[in-house]
Amino acid sequence: GRTLGILGGGQLAQMLALAALPLGVRVVVLEPDAQAPARLCAEHLCAPYTDPAGLERLAACDAVTLEFENVPVEALDALRGRVPVRPGAALLSRSKHRAREKEALRAAGAQTAPFVVAQSEADLQGALEQVGGRGILKTSELGYDGKGQRRVNTPDELRAAWTELGGVPCVLEGLVSFTREVSLAVARSAAGQVAFGPLVENIHRDGILRTSVFPANVPEGTEAQARETARAVAEAWGLEGLLTLEFFQLPDGTLLVNEVAPRVHNSGHLTQDGGGVSQFEAQVRAVLGLPLSDFAPLHPCAMVNWVGVAPVNEQEGGAQPDWDAIDALEGTRVHLYHKAWRSGRKLGHVNLVGPDMKTLRARLDTLERLIP
Ligand code: ATP
Ligand code: MG
Ligand code: MG
Repeated sequence: GRTLGILGGGQLAQMLALAALPLGVRVVVLEPDAQAPARLCAEHLCAPYTDPAGLERLAACDAVTLEFENVPVEALDALRGRVPVRPGAALLSRSKHRAREKEALRAAGAQTAPFVVAQSEADLQGALEQVGGRGILKTSELGYDGKGQRRVNTPDELRAAWTELGGVPCVLEGLVSFTREVSLAVARSAAGQVAFGPLVENIHRDGILRTSVFPANVPEGTEAQARETARAVAEAWGLEGLLTLEFFQLPDGTLLVNEVAPRVHNSGHLTQDGGGVSQFEAQVRAVLGLPLSDFAPLHPCAMVNWVGVAPVNEQEGGAQPDWDAIDALEGTRVHLYHKAWRSGRKLGHVNLVGPDMKTLRARLDTLERLIP
């Protein structure tokens, strides 16, 4: 049997491990948090990402992948030449840094929102006009779920946002008036075989993904455009493994790449229950060099995130979804991450299938009301 190492032990590692097992693949995760989700379904090396013994164990795996982009460079250095790490260090150094990522996207021929890289406060001079007058200032590193970003409408707000974000290197992006947000995953083996995930439509709330729907309600030609961009990025960046592109679609149909995740993505969770190959299986296959196929659902499906919202009262420890009603609703599948409740934290998701879009939409309206 093969063994796959994963840097990180969160819910993505949990779901990668669950997809790997039936393929005859055992999973080992290196993850310092003793309570991390993947502890229950994989061999858990509970140690820092740079722990020599932990890295020694990963080096003995057939391949190593990751579930978050901020893997310390020292860990990647320690594994270099000993075990294939997929995606590799060069791709990760781009995708974990917004400025480098945007430059590398453009070099690969992808379109992005207008942006200005700000290394220091002086770089903010005139930047807002350059991106169209309204923008979002984002830290170059470590942001996720909308953390580390501020909307700005005036040069004064821009300077205040810079200070609030800690005076660290940032990217100022023009505010995009998009029609919708969509995403697409692409998997690529070391041998160069390419496979695509579904084009999914995403709805965010407070900077956090709330709902994803497949198929996306998009104009003709959108999926082909998304695939072409994904293939170009995968090839230009030498992808081995799986990456996901987040797009903004403009009223004229143009797709701008918002950002890239070098891994399975929250918007792809609906592939678990859509009847086809899941994004998790696709990443495992791509990383280990197993045969790849496209991994789109066979039925209309959707996903709603359960994100911790402030408790109604002290005893409750956070508002709970109405689990009984969710179980009673036709087409639902619940996925929990075994995490302690915390406000703003992703705690689980519910996938939903339907025989047709009309039925799916009706069920989705109900489901969204059952999850706070
Ligand atoms: P995650 O990694 O969890 O997806 P993040 O913190 O990296 O999130 P982004 O994806 O950059 O954040 O932004 C979060 C959301 O904010 C986007 O999905 C979009 O809804 C909105 N947003 C971000 N940038 C822009 C922009 N330039 N114009 C308009 N909306 C934007
Ligand atoms: Mg991001
Ligand atoms: Mg994002």
